[in-house]
Amino acid sequence: MPVTHRLTAPAPGWTTATDVVVVGSGVAGLTVALNARRAGLRVMVVTKAMLDDGSTRWAQGGIAAALGEGDTPEQHLDDTLVAGAGLCDEDAVRTLVTEGPDAVRRLIATGAAFDRDAAGEILLTREGGHHRRRIAHAGGDATGAEISRALVSAVRSDPGIELIEHALVLDLLTDADGNAAGLTLHVMGEGQRDGVGAIRARAVVLATGGMGQVFSATTNPAVSTGDGVALALRAGAEVTDLEFVQFHPTVLWLGPDAEGQQPLVSEAVRGEGAHLVDAGGTRFMLGQHELAELAPRDIVAKAITRQMQLQGAEHMYLDGRHFGAEMWERRFPTILASCRAHGIDPVTEPIPVAPAAHYASGGIRTDLSGRTTVPGLYACGEVACTGVHGANRLASNSLLEGLVFAERIADDLAARHRAGDLPERAVDVAAARAARPVPLPAPEARAEIQRLMSRGAGVLRSAASMADTAAGLALLTGTAYTHVAEEKPADPRVETWEAANLLLVAAALVAAAAQRDETRGCHWREDFPERDDARWQRHLITTLTASGDLVSTPEEQ
Ligand SMILES: Cc1cc2nc3c(=O)[nH]c(=O)nc-3n(C[C@H](O)[C@H](O)[C@H](O)COP(=O)(O)OP(=O)(O)OC[C@H]3O[C@@H](n4cnc5c(N)ncnc54)[C@H](O)[C@@H]3O)c2cc1C
Repeated sequence: MPVTHRLTAPAPGWTTATDVVVVGSGVAGLTVALNARRAGLRVMVVTKAMLDDGSTRWAQGGIAAALGEGDTPEQHLDDTLVAGAGLCDEDAVRTLVTEGPDAVRRLIATGAAFDRDAAGEILLTREGGHHRRRIAHAGGDATGAEISRALVSAVRSDPGIELIEHALVLDLLTDADGNAAGLTLHVMGEGQRDGVGAIRARAVVLATGGMGQVFSATTNPAVSTGDGVALALRAGAEVTDLEFVQFHPTVLWLGPDAEGQQPLVSEAVRGEGAHLVDAGGTRFMLGQHELAELAPRDIVAKAITRQMQLQGAEHMYLDGRHFGAEMWERRFPTILASCRAHGIDPVTEPIPVAPAAHYASGGIRTDLSGRTTVPGLYACGEVACTGVHGANRLASNSLLEGLVFAERIADDLAARHRAGDLPERAVDVAAARAARPVPLPAPEARAEIQRLMSRGAGVLRSAASMADTAAGLALLTGTAYTHVAEEKPADPRVETWEAANLLLVAAALVAAAAQRDETRGCHWREDFPERDDARWQRHLITTLTASGDLVSTPEEQ
């Protein structure tokens, strides 16, 4: 199937070519790049800002893997399936947990230094939903920064990997048979590759991360605007499980009007014994779940939200005063510094916290080799839905997913290359021109989308709240993606392209969340408070039709 829609943009003014083009430079993209390169493929990495500007660098808690004595992949599997609330793909989870420990060892061999005890053993902590200590961490609470540092340094020292920073990827290009054949992008720089251009490639890998910026308050950085999911929808790919957005329970509360990326207070703080309390100091998680503060994230986020509603409060508190200054400084230096920068000292006072959008459990539907439903198009990391997270991601499984499935994509590419199944593709220029240009909303739409989504499609959802949200979103584009809005569309530029992507993924998320009339995992419907396995133990698959409608269809059973 050809690409049916494209962002409004000038025609490419330059073209270059490679074997594999990877979009995104987080743990997923850089791991694909390094491994595809080792297989002898020419690789180009395109990234929107600087190489380390995704979510990866912000990860605090760590990476989960059955590395500890007495722990096994089977126990990790059990915990992952419980968190996923009946919607995990068990084969995908088994792949994750069995290949995970060696993938972490290979990451260490690439140069990532994890925290170790005096005997040199990797230190492991616990996080919500894990029945064992199995979270490896680095720099105390700076795991993502260390992983990013190691991977960036490895790609920078490989001359066979070409890096294009400050380049926003726009849309997929295909050949006449509908195989991925490259992409269009806009380079924000000076020189030969300034402006809109095209990269031809034998395979395209999307590793564009999450979509947290679709909500007002999120832990995700500014680049997490759902571009990969929007691109995939326009290219006719299936996306799935979009309604399952994980809200992190303990995000530093910075006031009622705080917007954009908010500082996270990692679950590892609770893992080390901090308590959730209300303004009166009462621990409200006791008696709600056998793991109390370490219950799965959806349970804790809901409990906090419920307490906030019951007490008319804007936030709850996380109390880690009993750690003492030495432990805060050694174990959680990043969180300590970020709290102090906002005038809160966790050593002497409880930290005000509230839930905020954190992780997209759904994304572009892939198989166990990262292949999407568009031939030649792969997806990896947070942008993908491999099936490992189901209705709710288990803490610290996402860095691991990025690593494990990136390696599998590289293996698949290498095997196809060896078998002569990765030919050069001729871009079908006529089809690319025929794709309908999506009208671009004004840049101010971003904040409006975020407000609408947080109000109607956040932690608490109902049919009425989602109908309001969908109506608000539709107003921002005119009526649908097929028609150019009556008013003059905004000029093509980074802000308007990002706003168009946010609008499309927001509409797709709301379409799925409105249809799933049950409560499951991190999808909480006030009007349908129970889990309904008879009707809903299945995925919703969303596509953008050629006529511009978003359609969410329950998977066949
Ligand atoms: C604050 C925070 C703490 C977290 N803590 C943990 C943790 O402890 N453990 C854990 O397992 N997970 C954690 N996560 C989640 C985890 O960090 C992410 O899921 C993971 O890093 C995603 O990796 P990625 O490679 O898929 O995407 P990212 O690291 O987000 O990288 C995406 C890349 O794509 C680029 N990009 C996006 N759109 C475009 C475009 N149109 N064109 C070109 N480039 C584009 C971005 O610039 C970026 O380089 C945390 C997340 C956050 C935000």
